[in-house]
Amino acid sequence: MLPGPTFPNMPTASNWFAIEWLPHGILRIWEPHVSRLLRANMFLVRGRDRDLLVDSGMGVCSLREFLQPFLDKPLIHVVSHTHVDHIGSTHEFGASGFDGEIVMHPIEAPKLELGITDMKLSYDGYSAERKEELRRSGFDVSGALIAARPSPDFDPDSWSIPGVSPTRLVEEGDVIDLGDRSFEVLHTPGHSPGSICLWDPSLGILIGGDAIYDGLLIDTLPDSDPAIYSETIRKLRQLKVKTVHGGHRESFGSEKFLALIDNYLGK
Ligand SMILES: [Zn+2]
Ligand SMILES: [Zn+2]
Repeated sequence: MLPGPTFPNMPTASNWFAIEWLPHGILRIWEPHVSRLLRANMFLVRGRDRDLLVDSGMGVCSLREFLQPFLDKPLIHVVSHTHVDHIGSTHEFGASGFDGEIVMHPIEAPKLELGITDMKLSYDGYSAERKEELRRSGFDVSGALIAARPSPDFDPDSWSIPGVSPTRLVEEGDVIDLGDRSFEVLHTPGHSPGSICLWDPSLGILIGGDAIYDGLLIDTLPDSDPAIYSETIRKLRQLKVKTVHGGHRESFGSEKFLALIDNYLGK
């Protein structure tokens, strides 16, 4: 599989990651030079005793190095699910000497352990059918998955995502405890079988992964199940949500949360 034709003239980005502080000590991190379809959010949540990192992007650039100035406590790294745009740097948190945990739902643990080695940073590997479907949904699927390199010597062909083992498996109802605040694990399958959301009922904060975000909810991937997704969406609707930090795009409030849900269920 060849890289896209846009690589030779690809510019170098001065900053690979972008960040934004949100209320309640939550840092949103994203990769602005990743194609819109795969431009996922990562969230760092400050706690008294432990910090929480949800998801790890595409792994084009070291997230662990980037986060170093923010990390002064043990880190709980939660993997919302194992799609390529959410686990790129997760292996960096499994290195020996790292004070932290890698936490996920057991169903997708084998996928995290395998890593991703059969994909390139271009849309060339996508089937014609899939590309057409994405095009219809408004995505530009020509060329590369990245619009810039993180450094002049970055070789897009050498990119792959090493596998890593989770250190803790969680199910519905388990708790991620940061000392002075905590999140409940919600198992939210449908987009993928092991998708999880994190729910803080005291502040009404939902960290949604790809189960819920402000955009087209995707239920047509090989590991998606629309019927199960509908059940998940109905379950989420019961929550007294004030703020959603989704796996993609901007965070939003309860009104949009309900509208997105009703839109999905009504389709
Ligand atoms: Zn996904
Ligand atoms: Zn995603």
